[in-house]
Amino acid sequence: MDPQLQTLIELQGYDARIAALDTEAARLPKQIESIQTSLAEAKKQMETLKARVDATRKDLRAKEKDLEVIAAKRAKLEARLYEVKTNKEYSAALLEIEESKQEKAKTEEEILALMELQERLGVEVREAEKRYKTREEQARQDESVVRKKLGAVEQELAVVRGDRNGRAKDLPSGLLSDYERLLRARNGVAVAAVGATAICGGCRVTIRPQAIQELKSPVTTMMRCESCGRYLYWQE
Ligand SMILES: [Zn+2]
Repeated sequence: MDPQLQTLIELQGYDARIAALDTEAARLPKQIESIQTSLAEAKKQMETLKARVDATRKDLRAKEKDLEVIAAKRAKLEARLYEVKTNKEYSAALLEIEESKQEKAKTEEEILALMELQERLGVEVREAEKRYKTREEQARQDESVVRKKLGAVEQELAVVRGDRNGRAKDLPSGLLSDYERLLRARNGVAVAAVGATAICGGCRVTIRPQAIQELKSPVTTMMRCESCGRYLYWQE
């Protein structure tokens, strides 16, 4: 085989590998980002729950204050019972005491409900914290695996690029720039194999029998597909 064609085939192999590695090198950081985003969302959910616990605690404290106010008011009302002069005033004071009792009962009920809510939320927060811790650890491990992969990909890229550029020096600059132009224009494939089916491995067009004979010849010269322009070589 023509040594330049042989070099082109090898370059194509390197460039295909580089393209695959480039894709990985672009994908892996996105994967890291998505691990971090999903962990941040889990944290936000946990913090929302904690905020509800805080709000409930504040509500509870306010209701307990209300209860104190109600008790003070009640004491005042009861003291007034001894000071009123008329039956009318007495009845009015009794009515207010009755209202105050109802208010107290209602507030106590609300306090009970808040205490139950606080207890339930407390359990939920502890569970959420446990879940988050597990998730955080998993995310840390996942991220470390992806980072290692990314490191390996970048290392391999450097090696393959080095080898590729070393090999590219064996080609005359005109041929190399033609090849690179084709590579860009033809979706990363500038050199295509032709086999027994006699079609271009790049664009699937049928290659003329005469061209097949030339491709098969041991003294083959550089040949390009008449349809897509890719460099062709014969492969059984
Ligand atoms: Zn073609």
